[in-house]
Amino acid sequence: MIETLASKMPPVLDMPNAELENYKNHRICNDLYRRSLIGPVFYLIACFLLMAITGYHLRWPWLSALLAGTFLMLWIMRYKHRPPVSGADPRKYKQWVSQQWLLIQIGSVIWGLVPAVIGYLRVRPDSALMVATIATVAFSTAASQAFAMHPRQARWSLFALTLPAAMVFFLPSLELASTGLTLAIYVLYLIANLRRSANEYAQQIATEVDLIRSRAEIDRLSLTDMLTGLSNRRSYDQAWQQAWHLAVRQKESLALLMLDLDHFKHINDRYGHLGGDACLQHFSGLMQQHIRRSSDIIARIGGEEFVIILPTTNVEDAYAVAEQLRLAVVNTPCQFENTLIEMTVSIGVGTVNWEQDINPSATFSRIDRACYDAKNAGRNKVRLANIN
Ligand code: GH3
Ligand code: MG
Ligand code: MG
Repeated sequence: MIETLASKMPPVLDMPNAELENYKNHRICNDLYRRSLIGPVFYLIACFLLMAITGYHLRWPWLSALLAGTFLMLWIMRYKHRPPVSGADPRKYKQWVSQQWLLIQIGSVIWGLVPAVIGYLRVRPDSALMVATIATVAFSTAASQAFAMHPRQARWSLFALTLPAAMVFFLPSLELASTGLTLAIYVLYLIANLRRSANEYAQQIATEVDLIRSRAEIDRLSLTDMLTGLSNRRSYDQAWQQAWHLAVRQKESLALLMLDLDHFKHINDRYGHLGGDACLQHFSGLMQQHIRRSSDIIARIGGEEFVIILPTTNVEDAYAVAEQLRLAVVNTPCQFENTLIEMTVSIGVGTVNWEQDINPSATFSRIDRACYDAKNAGRNKVRLANIN
């Protein structure tokens, strides 16, 4: 029975998977975008600080302007390179990430060369090397925190920032090997730190995704009838309100079928509750076979009471559908254990009357009455609702 039930559930579980993938992509891209904007600003600040301390801009104005201009350009390019909008193709997100990382790595490589060149050329004063090295430590620390969403790329960024300086410091002529060693050890610490923050980031995203998944599942369950997998009363109420107002606004035909299984109490009495349940599932399967347009809605609104909403359907067509369904129920008994249970159904049919029906309930009541008429006429009948 579980298998039958599962196969009748609407395939909404697949939908959240695509949505969840989109959520992850969108969230990660936005984080990368926001966090990568700040980098060039600090590169620029460090650049100006170096110039103020050393007066480089007076000695090498073109080189200084080129360096500051490059960081400014990088900031503009990162700012303008906006992440794809929510719902974009996954390949677009991937492409965007590669491009954004290219911009980040360019910044890391350029800054990484600054302390290395200052050290290599032994540019005076000594405080210039100190400022450039401290800034490098700060930038690599920030990168190990901020880019936890892409640890592999973040590792390369750390290497690009620190390795040139660390290697230059090991040149014997500079006598800075101990500083180089300290920097290298610090990078190892940052790599370990990066792994931890990457795990935390992944954990956080997984928790958010779980929450969204649970919420979607709760929403789905709150709108689904567990026995048949059809929409439930709550879902029908929402759908009927929407469809009714749309039909009235657009002056379109909207049909409703109200279906009530006949003498269902007898079926329960004779075959037990499980036999009755099997009949309800069998009947919902028959409805699904006959009602195939994706805009149609089939719902179980009570024990053995169902409705079918047929948008843009006139009364003749709706009547024909109801009649086919009635005959299908008569001709297809329900197989329960080793017995065939015969059933019949009474159906009320009607369409929205834009002039007379003041609200969705008014239309429903007319069609519900038609279902009673079908019962009173001897059951196993289709009856049209009065216009009013
Ligand atoms: P009528 O032809 O006048 O509609 O007669 P009826 O016996 O179908 O009408 P009534 O509304 O009095 O009885 C409906 C029965 O449906 C009563 C209830 O026990 C049964 N029922 C309601 N929900 C379920 C369910 O989930 N499973 C089963 N097996 N029976 C149910
Ligand atoms: Mg009933
Ligand atoms: Mg009944």
